[in-house]
Amino acid sequence: LSQRDAKTLMTIPVLPISWSDALPLLRALEGPVAPPDWRGGLALTYHVGSGPARVHLMVKSHWRQQPLYNVIATLPGSELPDEWLVRGNHRDGWVYGAWDPLSGHVAMMAEAKAIGALVSGGWRPKRTLVYASWDGEEPGLLGSTEWAEAHAAELQQKAVLYLNSDENSRGFLDVGGSHTLQRLVNDVARTINDPQTGVSTLARLRASIQAGARQRSASEDLHFEAKLASDGADFTLDALGTGSDYTPFLQHLGIASLNVQYDGEEDQGGVYHSAYDTYEHYLRFGDPGLAYGVAEAQTTGHLMLRIANAELLPLQFGAFADYLDRKSAELHRMTDTKRSDAANLARLLDDKTFALATDPTRPVLPPAREAEVPALGFGVLEDAVLALRTAAHRYDAAYQRWLSGQSLLTPAQRQQLNALLRGMEQQLIAPQGLPGRDWYKHYVYAPGMLTGYGVKVLPAIREPIDSARWEDAASGIPVTARLLQNYALQLQQAAALLEAAAPP
Ligand SMILES: [Zn+2]
Repeated sequence: LSQRDAKTLMTIPVLPISWSDALPLLRALEGPVAPPDWRGGLALTYHVGSGPARVHLMVKSHWRQQPLYNVIATLPGSELPDEWLVRGNHRDGWVYGAWDPLSGHVAMMAEAKAIGALVSGGWRPKRTLVYASWDGEEPGLLGSTEWAEAHAAELQQKAVLYLNSDENSRGFLDVGGSHTLQRLVNDVARTINDPQTGVSTLARLRASIQAGARQRSASEDLHFEAKLASDGADFTLDALGTGSDYTPFLQHLGIASLNVQYDGEEDQGGVYHSAYDTYEHYLRFGDPGLAYGVAEAQTTGHLMLRIANAELLPLQFGAFADYLDRKSAELHRMTDTKRSDAANLARLLDDKTFALATDPTRPVLPPAREAEVPALGFGVLEDAVLALRTAAHRYDAAYQRWLSGQSLLTPAQRQQLNALLRGMEQQLIAPQGLPGRDWYKHYVYAPGMLTGYGVKVLPAIREPIDSARWEDAASGIPVTARLLQNYALQLQQAAALLEAAAPP
């Protein structure tokens, strides 16, 4: 937490305890029965309190400062040693940390070991691989942040990717990150075997999305994804908020990032971040036989090697442009809805509707009047997104032609293109950072100010809309639009270069 956050947020100490320790405390609670969402799984009626019992709780903590150790292993690339792929997983856990983080860490080590075996056989990647075992993630991403800040200039010049993993378990492929990598992730998922069913992890994910949309939810997003899945189109990467070590790379330095894991069939529930996150528990529930650890290592390993050895960095931009188009339309729609809601509320207040509706023997005050929602001038944002879409579809078409061998690049053209592609994500960060939190510099992906790990896309606009700060929302639009316009310009340059490639 920054000082600013610490002042504005209430902090409540939290300590996970076992069910047998919790039982007498829960039994001692009286008062109303807890709403369904608040009830746990023990055989008792949950009440919200208060009750007769007094509890004396003593917690012993040590407050020593101690050093953290990141372990960094570098394998220099044979052809492009100054283009780096950084791969990381944290190693520190709150107690034993079997699920969080060692399930992911073990998979990363297996992947590194497999690459080591290739190297022993004489193979070398074209680009440089940097493997990082982070320390101090749990108390605030300390190890990765210090390393990313210490090497900021070099990373912004050389890094083409940061690939993160953390916890991993039985279930479905779950990937978040830069949408320019969405196509590649889908391609790789098609080649990885799901340990429980034998189909590809892509096929299994598609099945889960379609079944989930049918069984569970009326959410627009789920139905949109289900339609994509049934059409055989790519699944959409989640936008990254925070909660693991990708944050300094993506949101502070503007390096294209991915967070890759399997999950969704076993809920960590109460063991998360507690003394009960043990090897025994993980093996029994998290990933029996560690089969999904293998799937994870295969998925991340393939991603690493495909990018490390690609002649042209395998970024594609159509999915990113379409995603931004959906998100910017969503912001526009939200603002219009809030405007008509506020106007409607004002009319009800003017007509004394709430006063007439209330029970005179138990009067309830009417809701407070809401500020009028001004027009926000979404035009410049929508223009920028359109420019980006045009450039994206132009680049992707030229890339397809090159990929299928219909055009050839000289080594000099390739070098120039790779340099442009490497810098694309950095077009989305601004040196002054986001309003009120200058360390976060990415204008497309950021955690919400008050949503914990949860993401807010186009945060300089979304954050003020959510808190009805209309002037701030209006000033966030042109700043965001300018970055997207610059991004589109650089992408047009890349597209022109690729279109200039000669026929074979
Ligand atoms: Zn973790």
